[in-house]
Amino acid sequence: AEMFGQLTSGLESAWNKLKGEEVLTKDNIVEPMREIRRALLEADVSLPVVRRFVQAVSEQAVGVGLIRGVKPDQQLVKIVHSELVKLMGGEVSELNFAKSGRTVILLAGLQGVGKTTVCAKLSYYLKKQGKSSMLVAADVYRPAAIDQLVILGEQVGVPVYTAGTEVKPSEIARRGLEEAKKKKMDVVIVDTAGRLQIDKSMMEELKEVKRALNPTEVLLVVDAMTGQEAAALVTTFNLEIGITGAILTKLDGDSRGGAALSVREVSGKPIKLVGRGERMEDLEPFYPDRMAGRILG
Ligand code: GDP
Repeated sequence: AEMFGQLTSGLESAWNKLKGEEVLTKDNIVEPMREIRRALLEADVSLPVVRRFVQAVSEQAVGVGLIRGVKPDQQLVKIVHSELVKLMGGEVSELNFAKSGRTVILLAGLQGVGKTTVCAKLSYYLKKQGKSSMLVAADVYRPAAIDQLVILGEQVGVPVYTAGTEVKPSEIARRGLEEAKKKKMDVVIVDTAGRLQIDKSMMEELKEVKRALNPTEVLLVVDAMTGQEAAALVTTFNLEIGITGAILTKLDGDSRGGAALSVREVSGKPIKLVGRGERMEDLEPFYPDRMAGRILG
Protein backbone atom coordinates (compact mmCIF):
# COMPACT_ATOMS: atom_id res chain seq x y z
CA ALA A 1 0.00 0.00 0.00
CA GLU A 2 1.23 3.48 -0.76
CA MET A 3 1.77 5.89 2.09
CA PHE A 4 -1.35 7.93 2.76
CA GLY A 5 -3.35 5.71 0.40
CA GLN A 6 -5.74 4.71 3.12
CA LEU A 7 -5.97 8.21 4.53
CA THR A 8 -6.75 9.62 1.10
CA SER A 9 -9.61 7.23 0.53
CA GLY A 10 -10.87 7.71 4.09
CA LEU A 11 -11.09 11.44 3.48
CA GLU A 12 -12.80 10.90 0.15
CA SER A 13 -15.68 9.27 1.94
CA ALA A 14 -15.98 12.46 3.99
CA TRP A 15 -16.42 14.62 0.89
CA ASN A 16 -18.84 12.10 -0.56
CA LYS A 17 -21.22 12.67 2.34
CA LEU A 18 -21.75 16.20 1.06
CA LYS A 19 -22.80 15.32 -2.48
CA GLY A 20 -26.00 17.11 -3.39
CA GLU A 21 -25.74 19.67 -0.59
CA GLU A 22 -25.92 23.37 -1.38
CA VAL A 23 -24.11 24.80 1.59
CA LEU A 24 -22.15 23.65 4.62
CA THR A 25 -24.25 23.60 7.78
CA LYS A 26 -23.84 22.60 11.39
CA ASP A 27 -25.93 19.53 10.66
CA ASN A 28 -24.59 18.31 7.36
CA ILE A 29 -20.94 18.42 8.44
CA VAL A 30 -21.49 16.01 11.32
CA GLU A 31 -21.17 12.92 9.14
CA PRO A 32 -18.20 14.15 7.08
CA MET A 33 -16.41 15.20 10.27
CA ARG A 34 -16.93 11.74 11.67
CA GLU A 35 -15.33 10.30 8.53
CA ILE A 36 -12.38 12.69 8.80
CA ARG A 37 -11.87 11.74 12.43
CA ARG A 38 -11.96 8.06 11.60
CA ALA A 39 -9.57 8.44 8.68
CA LEU A 40 -7.02 10.31 10.80
CA LEU A 41 -7.19 7.84 13.65
CA GLU A 42 -6.76 4.95 11.23
CA ALA A 43 -3.71 6.73 9.82
CA ASP A 44 -2.16 6.64 13.31
CA VAL A 45 -2.46 10.34 13.95
CA SER A 46 -2.15 11.02 17.64
CA LEU A 47 -5.56 11.39 19.39
CA PRO A 48 -5.18 14.91 20.83
CA VAL A 49 -4.03 16.06 17.40
CA VAL A 50 -7.09 14.49 15.78
CA ARG A 51 -9.37 16.22 18.30
CA ARG A 52 -7.89 19.65 17.75
CA PHE A 53 -7.86 19.16 14.01
CA VAL A 54 -11.50 18.11 13.80
CA GLN A 55 -12.52 21.01 16.00
CA ALA A 56 -10.64 23.56 13.92
CA VAL A 57 -12.07 22.22 10.66
CA SER A 58 -15.65 22.09 11.99
CA GLU A 59 -15.54 25.66 13.25
CA GLN A 60 -14.40 26.95 9.90
CA ALA A 61 -16.74 24.78 7.91
CA VAL A 62 -19.81 26.12 9.69
CA GLY A 63 -18.60 29.68 9.26
CA VAL A 64 -17.92 29.77 5.52
CA GLY A 65 -21.52 30.05 4.35
CA LEU A 66 -22.52 30.07 0.71
CA ILE A 67 -19.82 30.73 -1.84
CA ARG A 68 -21.14 31.05 -5.34
CA GLY A 69 -19.76 28.43 -7.69
CA VAL A 70 -17.99 26.43 -4.99
CA LYS A 71 -19.61 23.19 -3.86
CA PRO A 72 -19.66 22.38 -0.14
CA ASP A 73 -17.50 19.31 -0.61
CA GLN A 74 -14.87 21.41 -2.38
CA GLN A 75 -15.06 23.96 0.40
CA LEU A 76 -14.41 21.28 2.98
CA VAL A 77 -11.46 19.95 0.97
CA LYS A 78 -10.00 23.45 0.96
CA ILE A 79 -10.40 23.88 4.70
CA VAL A 80 -8.89 20.45 5.40
CA HIS A 81 -5.98 21.23 3.09
CA SER A 82 -5.09 24.45 4.84
CA GLU A 83 -5.47 22.88 8.28
CA LEU A 84 -3.22 19.98 7.24
CA VAL A 85 -0.56 22.43 6.11
CA LYS A 86 -0.84 24.30 9.39
CA LEU A 87 -0.67 21.05 11.34
CA MET A 88 2.63 20.16 9.67
CA GLY A 89 4.17 23.53 10.51
CA GLY A 90 3.08 25.68 7.57
CA GLU A 91 6.30 26.70 5.93
CA VAL A 92 9.21 24.42 5.14
CA SER A 93 11.67 24.49 8.02
CA GLU A 94 15.19 24.91 6.65
CA LEU A 95 18.39 23.60 8.18
CA ASN A 96 20.23 26.24 10.19
CA PHE A 97 23.86 26.99 9.53
CA ALA A 98 26.32 28.60 11.92
CA LYS A 99 26.75 32.34 11.27
CA SER A 100 30.48 31.95 11.66
CA GLY A 101 32.72 28.92 11.98
CA ARG A 102 31.58 25.37 11.49
CA THR A 103 28.04 24.14 11.47
CA VAL A 104 27.69 21.10 13.69
CA ILE A 105 24.81 18.70 13.20
CA LEU A 106 24.23 16.07 15.86
CA LEU A 107 22.06 13.14 14.85
CA ALA A 108 20.26 11.06 17.44
CA GLY A 109 17.71 8.29 17.24
CA LEU A 110 16.81 4.74 18.12
CA GLN A 111 18.55 1.80 16.54
CA GLY A 112 17.51 0.84 13.04
CA VAL A 113 15.67 4.05 12.21
CA GLY A 114 18.14 4.92 9.47
CA LYS A 115 20.45 7.27 11.35
CA THR A 116 23.71 6.12 9.79
CA THR A 117 22.16 6.23 6.34
CA VAL A 118 20.87 9.74 7.04
CA CYS A 119 24.38 10.92 8.00
CA ALA A 120 25.69 10.01 4.57
CA LYS A 121 22.58 11.23 2.76
CA LEU A 122 22.86 14.55 4.56
CA SER A 123 26.49 15.00 3.59
CA TYR A 124 25.54 14.25 -0.02
CA TYR A 125 22.62 16.69 0.24
CA LEU A 126 24.99 19.41 1.52
CA LYS A 127 27.56 18.59 -1.13
CA LYS A 128 24.98 19.35 -3.82
CA GLN A 129 24.52 22.75 -2.15
CA GLY A 130 28.24 23.36 -2.38
CA LYS A 131 28.97 22.71 1.28
CA SER A 132 31.79 20.46 2.39
CA SER A 133 31.17 18.14 5.30
CA MET A 134 32.82 15.51 7.43
CA LEU A 135 31.17 12.58 9.15
CA VAL A 136 32.09 11.59 12.68
CA ALA A 137 31.49 8.02 13.85
CA ALA A 138 30.56 8.21 17.52
CA ASP A 139 28.46 5.05 17.69
CA VAL A 140 30.91 3.05 19.76
CA TYR A 141 28.58 0.18 20.58
CA ARG A 142 28.26 -1.18 17.10
CA PRO A 143 31.58 -1.56 15.28
CA ALA A 144 29.46 -2.41 12.23
CA ALA A 145 27.94 1.06 12.37
CA ILE A 146 31.40 2.62 12.12
CA ASP A 147 32.28 0.41 9.14
CA GLN A 148 28.98 1.23 7.52
CA LEU A 149 29.58 4.97 7.92
CA VAL A 150 33.05 4.62 6.39
CA ILE A 151 31.64 2.75 3.39
CA LEU A 152 28.83 5.25 2.88
CA GLY A 153 31.27 8.14 3.28
CA GLU A 154 33.39 6.68 0.49
CA GLN A 155 30.33 6.23 -1.63
CA VAL A 156 29.41 9.93 -1.42
CA GLY A 157 33.02 11.15 -1.38
CA VAL A 158 33.00 12.61 2.10
CA PRO A 159 35.68 12.07 4.78
CA VAL A 160 34.76 10.06 7.87
CA TYR A 161 36.46 10.54 11.21
CA THR A 162 36.71 7.37 13.30
CA ALA A 163 38.45 6.63 16.59
CA GLY A 164 37.42 3.04 17.18
CA THR A 165 35.20 1.88 20.01
CA GLU A 166 37.51 2.44 22.99
CA VAL A 167 37.20 6.22 23.12
CA LYS A 168 34.22 7.93 24.76
CA PRO A 169 31.66 9.30 22.27
CA SER A 170 32.00 12.86 23.60
CA GLU A 171 35.78 12.62 23.13
CA ILE A 172 35.36 11.25 19.60
CA ALA A 173 33.03 14.14 18.87
CA ARG A 174 35.55 16.67 20.20
CA ARG A 175 38.41 15.20 18.20
CA GLY A 176 36.23 14.95 15.10
CA LEU A 177 35.39 18.61 15.40
CA GLU A 178 39.12 19.49 15.67
CA GLU A 179 39.84 17.42 12.59
CA ALA A 180 37.07 19.17 10.66
CA LYS A 181 38.52 22.53 11.66
CA LYS A 182 41.92 21.50 10.33
CA LYS A 183 40.34 20.32 7.11
CA LYS A 184 38.30 23.54 6.90
CA MET A 185 35.03 21.68 6.49
CA ASP A 186 31.82 23.70 6.45
CA VAL A 187 29.74 21.15 8.28
CA VAL A 188 30.38 18.35 10.77
CA ILE A 189 27.79 15.59 11.05
CA VAL A 190 28.00 13.39 14.12
CA ASP A 191 26.48 9.91 14.18
CA THR A 192 25.63 8.68 17.68
CA ALA A 193 24.62 5.35 19.16
CA GLY A 194 20.99 4.33 19.22
CA ARG A 195 19.28 1.78 21.42
CA LEU A 196 16.26 -0.36 20.76
CA GLN A 197 14.34 1.77 23.24
CA ILE A 198 14.85 5.04 25.03
CA ASP A 199 17.14 4.48 27.99
CA LYS A 200 18.87 6.58 30.57
CA SER A 201 22.44 5.82 29.54
CA MET A 202 21.72 6.76 25.93
CA MET A 203 20.29 10.09 27.04
CA GLU A 204 23.23 10.79 29.36
CA GLU A 205 25.67 9.99 26.60
CA LEU A 206 23.83 12.23 24.14
CA LYS A 207 23.84 15.09 26.63
CA GLU A 208 27.57 14.70 27.04
CA VAL A 209 28.16 14.65 23.30
CA LYS A 210 25.95 17.69 22.93
CA ARG A 211 27.92 19.60 25.57
CA ALA A 212 31.17 18.72 23.81
CA LEU A 213 29.91 19.95 20.46
CA ASN A 214 27.63 22.90 21.08
CA PRO A 215 25.77 21.87 17.90
CA THR A 216 23.90 24.15 15.53
CA GLU A 217 21.31 21.46 14.91
CA VAL A 218 20.30 18.48 17.01
CA LEU A 219 18.12 16.34 14.80
CA LEU A 220 16.21 13.31 15.91
CA VAL A 221 15.94 10.65 13.23
CA VAL A 222 12.53 8.98 13.36
CA ASP A 223 11.22 6.02 11.40
CA ALA A 224 7.88 6.97 9.84
CA MET A 225 6.71 3.40 10.35
CA THR A 226 6.55 4.00 14.11
CA GLY A 227 3.32 5.94 13.54
CA GLN A 228 1.80 7.31 16.74
CA GLU A 229 4.95 6.56 18.74
CA ALA A 230 6.93 9.04 16.68
CA ALA A 231 5.37 12.11 18.24
CA ALA A 232 5.99 10.86 21.79
CA LEU A 233 9.56 9.99 20.85
CA VAL A 234 10.28 13.48 19.57
CA THR A 235 8.72 14.99 22.68
CA THR A 236 10.82 12.84 25.01
CA PHE A 237 14.09 13.48 23.20
CA ASN A 238 13.30 17.17 23.16
CA LEU A 239 12.67 17.28 26.89
CA GLU A 240 15.75 15.21 27.65
CA ILE A 241 18.40 16.62 25.36
CA GLY A 242 16.79 19.52 23.54
CA ILE A 243 16.45 19.00 19.82
CA THR A 244 16.00 21.48 16.99
CA GLY A 245 13.98 19.24 14.71
CA ALA A 246 13.36 15.80 13.31
CA ILE A 247 14.19 13.82 10.20
CA LEU A 248 11.53 11.35 9.16
CA THR A 249 12.83 8.27 7.36
CA LYS A 250 11.28 5.47 5.32
CA LEU A 251 8.52 7.57 3.84
CA ASP A 252 8.74 5.25 0.85
CA GLY A 253 7.39 2.44 3.02
CA ASP A 254 3.74 1.76 3.73
CA SER A 255 3.51 3.86 6.87
CA ARG A 256 0.06 5.33 7.28
CA GLY A 257 1.21 8.89 7.75
CA GLY A 258 0.51 9.47 11.44
CA ALA A 259 4.09 10.48 12.22
CA ALA A 260 4.26 13.08 9.48
CA LEU A 261 1.02 14.58 10.74
CA SER A 262 1.59 14.46 14.50
CA VAL A 263 5.24 15.28 15.19
CA ARG A 264 5.08 19.04 14.85
CA GLU A 265 1.82 19.54 16.71
CA VAL A 266 2.68 17.26 19.62
CA SER A 267 6.32 18.17 20.15
CA GLY A 268 6.50 21.70 18.81
CA LYS A 269 9.54 20.67 16.76
CA PRO A 270 9.56 20.77 12.98
CA ILE A 271 10.27 17.89 10.65
CA LYS A 272 13.13 19.34 8.64
CA LEU A 273 13.97 16.57 6.21
CA VAL A 274 12.51 13.32 4.99
CA GLY A 275 14.12 10.14 3.70
CA ARG A 276 12.33 8.34 0.92
CA GLY A 277 14.52 5.39 0.11
CA GLU A 278 17.84 3.71 0.56
CA ARG A 279 19.74 5.62 -2.11
CA MET A 280 22.00 8.53 -1.14
CA GLU A 281 19.89 11.00 -3.12
CA ASP A 282 16.72 10.05 -1.28
CA LEU A 283 16.71 12.92 1.22
CA GLU A 284 14.71 16.08 0.77
CA PRO A 285 13.17 18.98 2.71
CA PHE A 286 9.79 18.40 4.33
CA TYR A 287 7.21 20.47 2.45
CA PRO A 288 3.95 20.67 4.47
CA ASP A 289 2.10 22.01 1.45
CA ARG A 290 3.12 19.20 -0.90
CA MET A 291 2.49 16.64 1.79
CA ALA A 292 -1.05 17.96 2.29
CA GLY A 293 -1.52 17.80 -1.46
CA ARG A 294 -0.44 14.18 -1.52
CA ILE A 295 -2.77 13.31 1.32
CA LEU A 296 -5.74 14.82 -0.47
CA GLY A 297 -4.80 12.83 -3.59
P1 GDP B 1 20.63 3.10 12.21
O1 GDP B 1 20.66 1.88 13.08
O2 GDP B 1 19.62 4.08 12.70
O3 GDP B 1 21.95 3.72 11.96
O4 GDP B 1 19.98 2.62 10.81
P2 GDP B 1 20.69 2.37 9.40
O5 GDP B 1 21.13 3.65 8.81
O6 GDP B 1 21.68 1.28 9.53
O7 GDP B 1 19.42 1.88 8.55
C1 GDP B 1 18.69 0.72 8.88
C2 GDP B 1 18.06 0.16 7.60
O8 GDP B 1 17.07 1.04 7.09
C3 GDP B 1 19.07 -0.02 6.49
O9 GDP B 1 18.80 -1.23 5.83
C4 GDP B 1 18.80 1.17 5.56
O10 GDP B 1 19.14 0.89 4.23
C5 GDP B 1 17.31 1.35 5.72
N1 GDP B 1 16.86 2.72 5.46
C6 GDP B 1 17.33 3.88 5.97
N2 GDP B 1 16.63 4.93 5.52
C7 GDP B 1 15.67 4.44 4.69
C8 GDP B 1 14.60 5.04 3.90
O11 GDP B 1 14.36 6.25 3.88
N3 GDP B 1 13.83 4.17 3.18
C9 GDP B 1 14.04 2.82 3.20
N4 GDP B 1 13.23 2.06 2.46
N5 GDP B 1 15.02 2.24 3.92
C10 GDP B 1 15.83 3.02 4.65
